[in-house]
Amino acid sequence: MFDFHIHLARLPHPKRLIRLLLDRNYDFVAVACEPWEWNDVSLLKKEFSTGLKPIKTAYGLHPKVAKDVTKEVLFELREYLKNDKRAMVGEAGIDKRYPGYDDGSQDQIFLAQAGLALELKRDLQVHCVGDYMRVLRLLKEAGFSQDFKQTQDSPRPIFHRFGGDLNFVKKALPLGALFSLHEDSFRKKSTTAAIPHIPQERVFFETDADESFLEPEELAESLENRLESVRAAYAKSLE
Ligand SMILES: [Zn+2]
Repeated sequence: MFDFHIHLARLPHPKRLIRLLLDRNYDFVAVACEPWEWNDVSLLKKEFSTGLKPIKTAYGLHPKVAKDVTKEVLFELREYLKNDKRAMVGEAGIDKRYPGYDDGSQDQIFLAQAGLALELKRDLQVHCVGDYMRVLRLLKEAGFSQDFKQTQDSPRPIFHRFGGDLNFVKKALPLGALFSLHEDSFRKKSTTAAIPHIPQERVFFETDADESFLEPEELAESLENRLESVRAAYAKSLE
C-alpha cells in the first residue's frame, strides 16, 4: 500500500501511528503544508527512516495560508527542502475557497514553489480547487515544459486529490504529470470519465487524511480501508 498524500503531523499520536503503518507495510508521503508542520515532519523523518526505507516527505505552503507568506517564510521553506534532499515540494496551489484566489496572491506563492521545484529538481504536489486551466498556465509560466523528458530528476507536477476533466488530463500529460486519486476523485462524472485515460503508471492513490478521533490502531486500519476503496473505485472505472 502506498498513500501518496497524507498529513501525518496533523493526526493524533503520529509516532505510534507511523510505527503501526510501517509494520503493516503501508508506505506514504508525509505532506507538511504549513510552516508549523515542517519541523514536526522533518523530525518524524529522522526518527523513522532507515537506510533501506527513508520516510518520504513534502514541504510546502497550502493556498489557505498564501496571504500570510513572507519572504522569510519562503526562505525557510527552501532551507527545509535543501536539507531533505529527496523531499517533494508542496502541497502548493490555488483554492477558490480561500483569500488570495482573486487578487493573484495565491498565484504568486504557487509560482514561487513551482520555481523551487524546478530549481531543486523535485516533484511538486499540486492542490487545485477551482480553475485547473489556471494551474496549468501557472506551471508553464514557472517553466514546466510541454515536452517533458523523463530523466532521474526531472520534476513532475502531481495533481493531488485529482478533480479535473479529460481536457485537462490531455493537456497535463505532456508535462509529465502524475495523478493522485482520492475517494473524492470519483464524485464528479467528468473526473471519473477522465481517469481511465491516464496511463496506469501515472496513477497513485491517497487518503489526504488530516484529522481523526480514532486511536492509532483503529486509524491505521481505517486508512488501509480508505486507500483500498480508492483502489477499488479506480479498478471499477477501468471496466
Ligand atoms: Zn492535502
